[in-house]
Amino acid sequence: MNASVNVARRIPMVQLDHLPSVMVEDVVNDGLCTGCGLCEPMSRGRYRMTNVEAIGFRPVKVNPAVASLDVGSFCPGIFLTRDQEQEDGHSAALWEDWGPVLEVWEGFACDADVRHRGSSGGAVTALAQFAANALGMNVVGTVASKKDPFVNEVGGADRLSDMPGSRYAPSSPCQVLSPEDESAPTAFIGKPCDVAGLYNLDRLRRPHPDSFSIGIFCAGVPSVAGNRQLVREQGLDPDQVSGLKYRGEGWPGLWRARTHNGQTREMTYADSWHYLQRFRQWRCYVCPDHTGEFADISVGDPWYKANREGEGKSLIVVRTKKGQTMLRQAMEQGFIEAVRLDDDKLPQSQPGLLETRSSIVGRLFAMRLFRLTQARFTNMGLDRAWRRVGVRTKIRAVGATAKRLVKKGVVTWH
Ligand SMILES: Cc1cc2nc3c(=O)[nH]c(=O)nc-3n(C[C@H](O)[C@H](O)[C@H](O)COP(=O)(O)OP(=O)(O)OC[C@H]3O[C@@H](n4cnc5c(N)ncnc54)[C@H](O)[C@@H]3O)c2cc1C
Ligand code: SF4
Ligand code: SF4
Repeated sequence: MNASVNVARRIPMVQLDHLPSVMVEDVVNDGLCTGCGLCEPMSRGRYRMTNVEAIGFRPVKVNPAVASLDVGSFCPGIFLTRDQEQEDGHSAALWEDWGPVLEVWEGFACDADVRHRGSSGGAVTALAQFAANALGMNVVGTVASKKDPFVNEVGGADRLSDMPGSRYAPSSPCQVLSPEDESAPTAFIGKPCDVAGLYNLDRLRRPHPDSFSIGIFCAGVPSVAGNRQLVREQGLDPDQVSGLKYRGEGWPGLWRARTHNGQTREMTYADSWHYLQRFRQWRCYVCPDHTGEFADISVGDPWYKANREGEGKSLIVVRTKKGQTMLRQAMEQGFIEAVRLDDDKLPQSQPGLLETRSSIVGRLFAMRLFRLTQARFTNMGLDRAWRRVGVRTKIRAVGATAKRLVKKGVVTWH
């Protein structure tokens, strides 16, 4: 693979040969690994993604004697750059804080079962069904493991029926990608960091011209250990759990655990997330992209609505011309029903994500004080977001981060 050659159609050239080397162990030890999974194919099997229960999936050497992997040119944990040009049609008001936005829609899967089981309105699964069933494309998504419902695994077109619903536990969908040029088109579904991994990879290989990506909005991913602890607190033995859903069956719907002998526990989505969010991996606290700005289409909740009952709807953000075409075709062919919204429904739906984003510069500064590996998040509008907050908030962002780095075990005293 030649790092200075850029063959991707949709991505402008960046000077990949000028990027510094960063060893994967430094990324992992300094808390910047998102767990995307790209290390596995990029190392050509020298590293395997392994579920570290208290954190998430992490790349682990298959054989300790092999050389370490340099991830400087592709790792989305440490390298994100918004290198798309702002074009006619992109919302100028949203560009800095939300990345490229061509259109905002609200919609749902026409398949009533997908909509019912879907996290919001089942739009992501409907787009994947359109890609697989109407266009014959491969699909990469996330499903619960059949062996252990707490652990996620990668699912393809044959697992589409298991895909509706968000799983608030680690996932590693980039582990099935290939460093070679793509010979067949793929619809890739992932968290924003997973989609950014795909985007970085596509600078290094030739993606199929019809491949497209869907990013789900993401405030952070809690560990498997946190999920097992929640089940324990609800009075169930995690080893006896046969099924776990986090939301869906109504919007946002209930968290529910079910055991082999028929016991069930339920909680509101808000209560379960309130519990689980403290188990998020460190990288989520310095995440500059919670809304999938490197995707063709990204999807989240239309939280701007006051009425959050009944069957759900998805907030659909079209980010590229390809995404625009895919959504139109999925609507024309009866997979999705959607109506266009004003662009400002995006910020109105996600005020929490914008607030978090304003602290990233301070949090990264705190990491620098501890001489941890430095992430390169360039041209992402972070400086402007930082300028928006007052001095007191800035000091608090740095101070609280220093404490949290110790609490999360990223910084240890010997
Ligand atoms: C950890 C996490 C945090 C989230 N935070 C927010 C938030 O802050 N704000 C917000 O608006 N929305 C958030 N969401 C997204 C939201 O829950 C819905 O996924 C989104 O609105 C799409 O809904 P849908 O009904 O259209 O998708 P569905 O049709 O239900 O499809 C969901 C798709 O998500 C994928 N998926 C599920 N779990 C994971 C996972 N762990 N990793 C990767 N892919 C997965 C599956 O492949 C599936 O195709 C979060 C989701 C997750 C998993
Ligand atoms: S974020 Fe992805 S590419 Fe980076 S170290 Fe983790 S698994 Fe590897
Ligand atoms: S918050 Fe960011 S880093 Fe964390 S899982 Fe979500 S997209 Fe990835």
